[in-house]
Amino acid sequence: MPSELQEKVETLKGRYPDNIAIQCFDSVYFNTLSDDHKRRLQKCLNSGVENPDSEMGCYACQPSDFDDFKPFFSKVLARHHKVSENARHVNNWDLGSLEGLPADGKLDIAKLGLPPLSMRVRVGRNLREFALPGSMTQNDRIRLENRMMAVFDKLIAMPEFGGAYYSLTPGNPAFIDDNKYNELVDAHIMFKRMDTDRYLTAAGIAADWPFGRGCYVSEDREFIIWVGEEDHLRIMCMKRGTVLNEVFDRLKSALDLVESIEGMEFAYSDDYGVVTSCPTNLGTGMRASLHIALPNLTADGTDAKAKAIAKPLGLSVRGIGGEHTPIGVDGTLDISPSARFCITEAEILAALYKGIVLLKDAEQQIET
Ligand code: ADP
Ligand code: MG
Repeated sequence: MPSELQEKVETLKGRYPDNIAIQCFDSVYFNTLSDDHKRRLQKCLNSGVENPDSEMGCYACQPSDFDDFKPFFSKVLARHHKVSENARHVNNWDLGSLEGLPADGKLDIAKLGLPPLSMRVRVGRNLREFALPGSMTQNDRIRLENRMMAVFDKLIAMPEFGGAYYSLTPGNPAFIDDNKYNELVDAHIMFKRMDTDRYLTAAGIAADWPFGRGCYVSEDREFIIWVGEEDHLRIMCMKRGTVLNEVFDRLKSALDLVESIEGMEFAYSDDYGVVTSCPTNLGTGMRASLHIALPNLTADGTDAKAKAIAKPLGLSVRGIGGEHTPIGVDGTLDISPSARFCITEAEILAALYKGIVLLKDAEQQIET
């Protein structure tokens, strides 16, 4: 009931100052909404109300939620991304538009004295015509998977892609067993199970697990599309090497190709760019990461020191298996620029290139 939501949020406001959704919820605005819109906004806040310890505390559940509930989401976005409430996002993948990068445009970390590392760039994308994962029915999830399987058939038939689709949906012709699933998770190809995540569960995003979930992997295992995780699609390119452009450029051209296929109309907002479930990902939906061993910074067995140094550099630190996983045995961490919104795709890649060398310097300073 909408009024119950208001009461709950009002009682949580004083106790959870770091829950962005709860702090940005405004009863006066809420009362101006129609019953239908009240229900929709309430749905967006469910995760943060059920888990008041959340940092963000809300997810969009329809592609138009950010625009339809702008008085709420503009506050949320301003608070998390440290932008103004009128901020508008602009997308741009052109590295040539940036200053201060190597003249040949090649972001080669070998030139910074780094060895080949595992590089990954992913973007979240959602199809305009489906509800976002938090509001999908089981039938929606299966329809989306079937829609994507037709796209994957096209990719599989192309020599530069090939590969296969792996489904978690019982009865799907591409269904894989637990062994194969675990093998793909261990190879950083497939996503972790979602039904044990209390935030995704409360948001409705993990509902109907494992129906409609799966992933496409190219023959060379470097181009991957997840189906049915936090966004309809997570599209990524991953390989070991030193030239960041290789994963960035391949992702851009493959993404353009996928988007040109019939039925692949992605959700965009005029003001906010790429629409994603989580407001943290809005704008670009992009995370560009490197796996790098930082044994000195992690000598105490934790990522605390690395995080303290990375934060002011605008970098996030994750574990070797992704968010909420521990550091690798040799002190390997996942480093990525934190910003996604009101930053261009090109700027995210450049931030990774510039940031990683500063982190490496901090690591070496401990040695000496
Ligand atoms: P995201 O939210 O960006 O998809 P997660 O933190 O959920 O990322 O991690 C998803 C998977 O991607 C995990 O298996 C993680 O180890 C893997 N991954 C992320 N970055 C890299 C990288 N640079 N190299 C190899 N695997 C990576
Ligand atoms: Mg994730």
